[in-house]
Amino acid sequence: MDIKDKIRKLKKERNAVILSHYYQHIEVQEIADFIGDSFELAKKAKEAKEDVIVFCGVYFMAEGAKILNPTKTVLLPVKEAGCPMADMVTAEDVMELRKKYPDAAVVTYVNSTAEVKAVSDICCTSSSAVRIVNSIPNKRIIFVPDENLGRYIAKQVPDKEIIPYSGYCQVHQRVTVQDVEAVRKAMPDALLLVHPECVPEVVEKADFVGSTTQIINKALESKNKDIIIGTEVGVVDFLKKKTSDKNFYLLSPKMICANMKKTSLKDVLNSLENNVHEIEIEQEIMDKAFSSLDRMMNV
Ligand code: SF4
Repeated sequence: MDIKDKIRKLKKERNAVILSHYYQHIEVQEIADFIGDSFELAKKAKEAKEDVIVFCGVYFMAEGAKILNPTKTVLLPVKEAGCPMADMVTAEDVMELRKKYPDAAVVTYVNSTAEVKAVSDICCTSSSAVRIVNSIPNKRIIFVPDENLGRYIAKQVPDKEIIPYSGYCQVHQRVTVQDVEAVRKAMPDALLLVHPECVPEVVEKADFVGSTTQIINKALESKNKDIIIGTEVGVVDFLKKKTSDKNFYLLSPKMICANMKKTSLKDVLNSLENNVHEIEIEQEIMDKAFSSLDRMMNV
């Protein structure tokens, strides 16, 4: 029996569902019951009927699954698969900002810890951020932790005052205007799709800006044969597997998330065999973080 068969067998025995983010290794995506971006996976986790949710992603995503579906056993195969951006802001930082701007609402990107979600008014994903900000009556919005996404939202919602925190995603932040110019020169007719976690100068030069799923949909719908993907390499792997009718290129070889790539098939098997790593969150934090996430799901 090969490793994939072993995982499938164990998954059945334990009544488990495997969720994988698009940024995971392609072989991990292949074993998953569902592949998605953070919002889609949160939705799937919330609706899951199985006893066990194996979350192939990073820590904050598995935490989100536990918060949204607390009676389930939620497993993150590699405990050390964290998100440096999520760790850039603490609950104390948010409370300081609240003191400084008492009239502001706190909108928190899902790429954040449960503690930070617990002191926020509402969460958002990159696909829902503009909609969420528009749904809030406050004129002033504290946006944590991603500064680039905060600046992108500020442009889309000019009647609000967005106060972005100074966090960033290392994977998207690494891409420069020079990288864009180089691919434009090499492939002048190709379509460039980028994630709003990239710096504003890169975002400005894109043909389309969107969340991971929006990028995937745009790439598949486009009539253009050559598509440059400005987000993590896993999306290119996913698209190449999905269709051979088009050519997909990564905007920069720097766009690899080391944390997303920590999970292997061996880890998924080990997770199911030995119940590692089980996500546990303090009840009070869980309840408060649920409110922020649930408000997001309902907008
Ligand atoms: S790609 Fe960026 S935001 Fe996503 S998990 Fe990796 S470091 Fe965090």
